[in-house]
Amino acid sequence: MNYRAVETTEEYVASLEHGADWRAEIESLADDVEGDAAWFTALGAVQDAELWFYDQDECEYYPIEFDEPLEVASCVGNVSWLDDERFAHTHAVLSDDEGTTYSGHLNAATVWAGEVYMRVFAEPLEREYDETTELDLWL
Ligand code: ZN
Repeated sequence: MNYRAVETTEEYVASLEHGADWRAEIESLADDVEGDAAWFTALGAVQDAELWFYDQDECEYYPIEFDEPLEVASCVGNVSWLDDERFAHTHAVLSDDEGTTYSGHLNAATVWAGEVYMRVFAEPLEREYDETTELDLWL
């Protein structure tokens, strides 16, 4: 395990743009406030979604697509640098009109409405390829 102390700088709340991409909006917030590392939570609703499931045997992501309105019952993630860009690693629990939930790594979703709380850290976080998991993990 790697760990370090982090100092927080600013905290933000944001309302996501209707029709925009959920994850891109969070990355746009991080860009706007120059947040090189951050932790966030969010909630709201989306018009569609693409979750990814990581197959640990194949070391590959598989998409799970939804073309229907869903609640974002819970969303959590963090911001760090990946390939010279701010990347919002985003996980979400989505629910349908019967309360059934679907969850996973959220790649994309079209915002219906969304509310985000973001806490920015003073030190940047960077991701680098990890050979064991074949994922881009924190250094
Ligand atoms: Zn993930």
